[in-house]
Amino acid sequence: MAPAKIRVIIVGAGIVGASLAFHFARRGTEVHMVEEGVAAGSGVTSSAFGWVNIINIAPGAINYGLVQEALVEYARLQADLPGVFVAARAGSLFWLASPAETEAFAAAHRTAGTDVELVDAATIAAWEPNLLKPPACAIFSPLDLALDPARLARDLIDAAGITATFGRKVGSLTLSGNIVTGVRFDDGGVIEADLVILTAGTAVDRLAENLGFRTGVEASPSIILRYSCTEPVLSRILRGPGLEIRQSADNRLNVAKGYIDDREENAPESVGRRILKIMHERLRLPERVSLVEAVAGYRPFFSDGMPRLGFLPGVEGAYAAVGHPGVILAPLLGRLAAEHVLEGRRSPLIPPAGLM
Ligand SMILES: Cc1cc2nc3c(=O)[nH]c(=O)nc-3n(C[C@H](O)[C@H](O)[C@H](O)COP(=O)(O)OP(=O)(O)OC[C@H]3O[C@@H](n4cnc5c(N)ncnc54)[C@H](O)[C@@H]3O)c2cc1C
Repeated sequence: MAPAKIRVIIVGAGIVGASLAFHFARRGTEVHMVEEGVAAGSGVTSSAFGWVNIINIAPGAINYGLVQEALVEYARLQADLPGVFVAARAGSLFWLASPAETEAFAAAHRTAGTDVELVDAATIAAWEPNLLKPPACAIFSPLDLALDPARLARDLIDAAGITATFGRKVGSLTLSGNIVTGVRFDDGGVIEADLVILTAGTAVDRLAENLGFRTGVEASPSIILRYSCTEPVLSRILRGPGLEIRQSADNRLNVAKGYIDDREENAPESVGRRILKIMHERLRLPERVSLVEAVAGYRPFFSDGMPRLGFLPGVEGAYAAVGHPGVILAPLLGRLAAEHVLEGRRSPLIPPAGLM
């Protein structure tokens, strides 16, 4: 007799939950996705810059190997779902304050096993003619991708062909003894499952409160700025000192900035106006580029720089998948979680950190 299909509830349809839904459904699991927002990707995933990259990770960083593996996983996903990636742009250009620093950073990536190329000012000018002062050299990272993470979350859920409930907030997990039996919504409704997977980003610990376990997830702010633009200006993601910018398929220009503090002059709109001046100094822009969105998003983050993936201790039937950088890691987390839960294979890439 074939083993019974397990029924899984996934709480949180961000990029991480969407990827888990896709990987579990692909392996024949009955998945029910629940999400308090009106659509997939409406949490911090909607504020993500959308850079799937290795070049912005320092070789030697604790998660470097994990991100290398995550890029391989993206290549698999692209081969599997080519239609989903038609608007994604491959390759980014990265440079530091001096050519010597850029060259040393490229050498460190190569030593760490990443295939990057150094390109000179003439090549950069030919590739990106609207960059007014190309640096003497930059690192071209061919495996990097620029994409719309919220769109990818929606596409993965569509490709998974699962049941999804939007606009309902889960209040808690239901328990029978020490067995998690499902979820209870704030409106009182309950649905049952063999396993509840928490992919609720920064809300994971609040949801696990009645299970007596905390992952220790923190909410780390970062600012996303979006500018309307009428014409194509850039082909690749550009990351130089003080400016990290990409253009989406609708020509909108997207910039990510670190959050400074909550003083008025550092509010997202103020940062957005300052960055627009820098954009005009560094890029040949058409007229009427204007700031249309400036918000701080709160990233699920752990102080050791690693994500969390595993069964919650002390109970049966609850699993969590959360961490930064979530867009980069999502396809890999999805595959590793499915292999762990369904095939009993725990990946050595992610230490358990209190989970099982
Ligand atoms: C400015 C900025 C730029 C960024 N750039 C990048 C980047 O270039 N590359 C990268 O990899 N990462 C980037 N990130 C980080 C990235 O956005 C996150 O790591 C990623 O989106 C986390 O995805 P998630 O699915 O874990 O969380 P979320 O997207 O927050 O998804 C969790 C979902 O759970 C839902 N939820 C929560 N509680 C409940 C509940 N009780 N009931 C039902 N649903 C619930 C939420 O509504 C939400 O939709 C950036 C972040 C910011 C802010």
